[in-house]
Amino acid sequence: MRYDVIIVGAGPAGSTTARECAERGLSVLLLDKAEFPRDKPCGGGVTVRASKLLPFSIESVVERVITDVYLTHKQASGFSRHSDDALVNMTQRRNFDMLLLEKALEAGVILRENAAVRQVSRGATSIDVSTQDETFTASVLVAADGANGKTAQMSGIQQSFWQQIALEGNVTPSSGIPDRWQTCFGLDIGGIPGGYGWVFPKGDHLNIGIGGWRYVGPGLRESLGHLTKFYGFDRENMWGLRGHYLTIRKPESPLVRGNVVLVGDAAGLIDPMTDEGIYSSIWSGQSAARTIADYVGGETSNLLNYKREVESELVPELSISLRFHDLFQLAPGLYLWAEKHTDLVWALARRILRGDQTYVNVMLRHTATGNVIDFLSDLVRVTPYLQRRSGLREPAPPQRFFVRGSVQT
Ligand SMILES: Cc1cc2nc3c(=O)[nH]c(=O)nc-3n(C[C@H](O)[C@H](O)[C@H](O)COP(=O)(O)OP(=O)(O)OC[C@H]3O[C@@H](n4cnc5c(N)ncnc54)[C@H](O)[C@@H]3O)c2cc1C
Repeated sequence: MRYDVIIVGAGPAGSTTARECAERGLSVLLLDKAEFPRDKPCGGGVTVRASKLLPFSIESVVERVITDVYLTHKQASGFSRHSDDALVNMTQRRNFDMLLLEKALEAGVILRENAAVRQVSRGATSIDVSTQDETFTASVLVAADGANGKTAQMSGIQQSFWQQIALEGNVTPSSGIPDRWQTCFGLDIGGIPGGYGWVFPKGDHLNIGIGGWRYVGPGLRESLGHLTKFYGFDRENMWGLRGHYLTIRKPESPLVRGNVVLVGDAAGLIDPMTDEGIYSSIWSGQSAARTIADYVGGETSNLLNYKREVESELVPELSISLRFHDLFQLAPGLYLWAEKHTDLVWALARRILRGDQTYVNVMLRHTATGNVIDFLSDLVRVTPYLQRRSGLREPAPPQRFFVRGSVQT
């Protein structure tokens, strides 16, 4: 049978693309090398802005609703910030991803589990996708196989990413989740180049992790041990220790090539400042499905609308986030000071997590501040001393995106 679309990977990006394609009447085959429910190294924090993208409630898989953040600098000098509204929904990925997959199946998607894609061969109007046992044909292929995915490569597409790496594990306190973490997650910043440490409370356990630029990989195990101890838990009792890459897209990295579309981590759409990837995965899946439906329905002759949408709406957000990340890494202490002593920074963080504000709007509304951020970030990108201070070994090229009040990507 020939399908309209084959999607490789049933994470948030793949299941969302699949569901939205099927809801538009397309025949969809979803392949995953794993058997579901499956887990995935992830903090499982689904921001309110990400939840709002979905046309159904995720309440059934939410184990805790976060309203507070406990911030520390290099494992010292902590303070809390409170929000009256929910900021992040804490889930476990095996349950969250299963829910998204079930919604795709309800929409009519055909699923093959234990089906690792091994080979792709692209023709002008069709594409063959082979697992160990079978070959399937479709008009469009979607690479949704995550940060370690090989589907793009197998399709002859060269991606270009900055890579981060994170290590995480879980602790289950015998006396239950401590009061401090009932509705609060912890972030420890300034202690690792390019990232941060975290503690995310779930129903009966806490997820503790740390990540940064790829070169910090060899020291992560020790760093995670220290962090676990700092948060008051015994590192010896940690279970489910897992590491994983995070992919941050470089501006030239492809989103579409011919009849192949890249979504989620396979496209490198992680938010560099927060390392939030679920939002972009859902967003890009929805955008891809709209474009694919138009293409299969004969309304457009190519899939480039997806690229245009991502580049005009999502990429500006991620570019500004990368700017914030440059500065945040240079002076995490200053960021914490501002977060503690000014309501403005906390209000901004809250509004972004809830999807009430975007990075682009912030830059456009506060043009003077935006220009300063722009300038300072460029300064970091061209000054080796500042790069060393901020742990940046592969800076993005300087790029003024503020041009007469409009945002450039
Ligand atoms: C340690 C860590 C913590 C994180 N914490 C958060 C967080 O709290 N909140 C947040 O928003 N983001 C977080 N992220 C990022 C988030 O996990 C990712 O952005 C998100 O999972 C991307 O979804 P995806 O659908 O693109 O890919 P994935 O979720 O990685 O799914 C890819 C799927 O493809 C399948 N696959 C791979 N190769 C093949 C193949 N050859 N054939 C068939 N199937 C294949 C895999 O089995 C998998 O099911 C974190 C990341 C890490 C590493």
